Amino acid sequence: MAMVSIIDKKRRGGAHADAEIAWLVAAMMAGELPDYQLSAWLMAVCINGMTPDETVALTRAYVESGTRLCYDAVFGDAPALVVDKHSTGGVGDKVTLVLLPLLAAAGLKVAKLSGRGLGFTGGTIDKLESIPGFRVSLDNAAFTRQLKDIGIALSSQTADLAPADAKTYALRDVTATVESIPLIAASVVSKKIAAGAHVIVLDIKVGRGAFMKTMEDALALAELCQYVGRRLGRAIGTVISPMDEPLGYAVGNALEVAEAIETLKGRGPQDLTEATLALGARVLVEAGRYTATAPAEAYLRGLIENGAALACFRTWIHAQGGDAGIINDPSRLPQAQYQVPILAEQAGVITAIDPLAIAEAALAVGAGRKAKGDAIHHGTGVVLNGKAGTSVQPQDTVATLYCDKPCSPDIIKLISEAFTMKAIL
Ligand code: URA
Repeated sequence: MAMVSIIDKKRRGGAHADAEIAWLVAAMMAGELPDYQLSAWLMAVCINGMTPDETVALTRAYVESGTRLCYDAVFGDAPALVVDKHSTGGVGDKVTLVLLPLLAAAGLKVAKLSGRGLGFTGGTIDKLESIPGFRVSLDNAAFTRQLKDIGIALSSQTADLAPADAKTYALRDVTATVESIPLIAASVVSKKIAAGAHVIVLDIKVGRGAFMKTMEDALALAELCQYVGRRLGRAIGTVISPMDEPLGYAVGNALEVAEAIETLKGRGPQDLTEATLALGARVLVEAGRYTATAPAEAYLRGLIENGAALACFRTWIHAQGGDAGIINDPSRLPQAQYQVPILAEQAGVITAIDPLAIAEAALAVGAGRKAKGDAIHHGTGVVLNGKAGTSVQPQDTVATLYCDKPCSPDIIKLISEAFTMKAIL
């Protein structure tokens, strides 16, 4: 087969045969496809889409590019239910950092493959890498051992698990080819199938700070993920949640880890706490532990209040080689060199905060990548002082920019203009 004809077929809006997709993924994994051809194909898919069956074929090929974890033999005579949650990505979305220890405290086994930042959204792996010493890559043996021992295993994709997704993921990040429903579905579902959990819940974000901008697209993505999961033998639960302003206050890797710790201590932002409890409750229901989400949420809230979830976070950091001292002393996390306050010009009430502008500012100061392989500055980002509904006076700080070099006035302007204010007369 020739890659040029495959690109040309997709450019004309054609549908690929399963064999074409399997060939493309195998050739990519063999290092036979240059990035420019893959990028051209990804752009053609972005523009012309894929049928549900093509998406199944792509997902299957991603899964088959590596191995699949299976937990049957891991727990011996005491089989355990392994659960997994994945977000399609948003701005300030650090739910995974809070939810995994919370679910482990509830006695579930949580196995998860995560990604790095993608497009304007942050990635769990980059966030965890801001914890000194934290190993984000576990081989299959270490992954299953840790799952058995402490109930949480999280890894970046390795050469073993859905590596073909990792390859295209890194390329999509820098070629404006993230926002495609079939590409997102194949990427997310392949990781979930490879990681082998029995219960999978997807958090599909919708809004200006998400890849799905409309409810219609979010529903289409949810339906496609469920379809692909079913065809590949896994039931997938979905939750659709809003992303119209950053989740919590912090955007940027170490800043988000610090906020996740506060949330596990019961002092986190309300929206982040509620989003985490809602997802956790859905996982407990899907796992058959509860029949309704309200009592499940109350139970999980109790695990934050009694410190059990925080204790699991400590154990998890320790197990992956990280410095658990950050829990009592967040100043051990990477710190930015400069803190620049962004001031309100007039009195008013914040009515909206554009998550895309905040993400763009965080990216500009090094919290994300502009090109494949760029280094992340883990201490950088933006911390908001209020959310929609907060009143401010002139010269109040509405946000703080954390950066490692003196920042340009354009970035300050970008953050200022992210705030929509209603003047108080
Ligand atoms: N998360 C993923 O893992 N992949 C995507 O394509 C988008 C969000």
